[in-house]
Amino acid sequence: SDHNLEYPRKPSDMDWTKLYPVLRERPELGKPTVADIGCGFGGLLVSLSPMLPDKLILGMEIRVQVTNYVEDRIIALRQQNIDSKGYGNISVLRGNAMKFLPNFFEKGQLEKIFFCFPDPHFKQRKHKARIVTTTLSSEYAYVLQPGGIIYTITDVKDLHDWMVEHLEAHPLFERLSKKWEAQDDCVKIMTSDTEEGKKVERNSGDKFVACFRRLPNP
Ligand code: SAM
Repeated sequence: SDHNLEYPRKPSDMDWTKLYPVLRERPELGKPTVADIGCGFGGLLVSLSPMLPDKLILGMEIRVQVTNYVEDRIIALRQQNIDSKGYGNISVLRGNAMKFLPNFFEKGQLEKIFFCFPDPHFKQRKHKARIVTTTLSSEYAYVLQPGGIIYTITDVKDLHDWMVEHLEAHPLFERLSKKWEAQDDCVKIMTSDTEEGKKVERNSGDKFVACFRRLPNP
C-alpha cells in the first residue's frame, strides 16, 4: 500500500540534492528531466547516464527491495567512478508513479518518460491498472514539456496495442514514425539494455516499440 510511502506535497518541496549530491557542485543541472517509470533493476538508468551527462535521470520503482538494490548499485558505480564523477546524474526513488507523479514533477519539467516492459495486467478486469490509461496520459502530458517524448517498449502485443490506442487517441500526443525510432539512441538503449529486454532477448521474444511526442498546448 502507499501508506508508508512519503511524498512531497508539491514538487517545490522536493530536495533533489539528497538524490543527486552532484548538484552541490553543478547546480546548473537543475531538476530531473528524464524519468524511467517502473525502472526495475536499473539497467536503463545505468546506460543512459553516460549518454545524457548533462541531464538528471530519475528511476521510479514501487517495490522496496528492488529500489534498494538500484540505490546500492548506483552508490557502487559512483564509488568506482569517483575520479570521472560518473553516475552522479542518475538516481532512484521508491514510489507509485500511477498516483503521485505531479507531486514530484512540475508542469513541463520532463523531456523524456520511459515505460520499459511495464506489467501487462493481462486480465480484462485488470486493464485499468495498466500504466497507460486515458487519465494517466493527461498526467504524463502535464509533466512533459511540449516536444517531450514518451518511450514505450513491451513484449506483449496486446499491451503494445493498448498503449498505442490510448496515447494516439490523446489530443496532446502524436506517435513518432519508425524512421524517427531508427535514428534515436534512446530507442536503441531501451531495446537492448533493460533487464527485462535482455530476458526477452534470451527467449527470442518480440519487442514492440512506440514513441510519442508531446504536442504544444492548443
Ligand atoms: N523497466 C524494467 C525493465 O525493463 O527491466 C522493469 C520491468 S518490470 C516487468 C515492471 C516494473 O514496474 C517492476 O519492477 C514493478 O515493480 C514496477 N512498477 C509496477 N507498477 C508501478 C508503479 N505504479 N509505480 C512504479 N513502479 C511500478
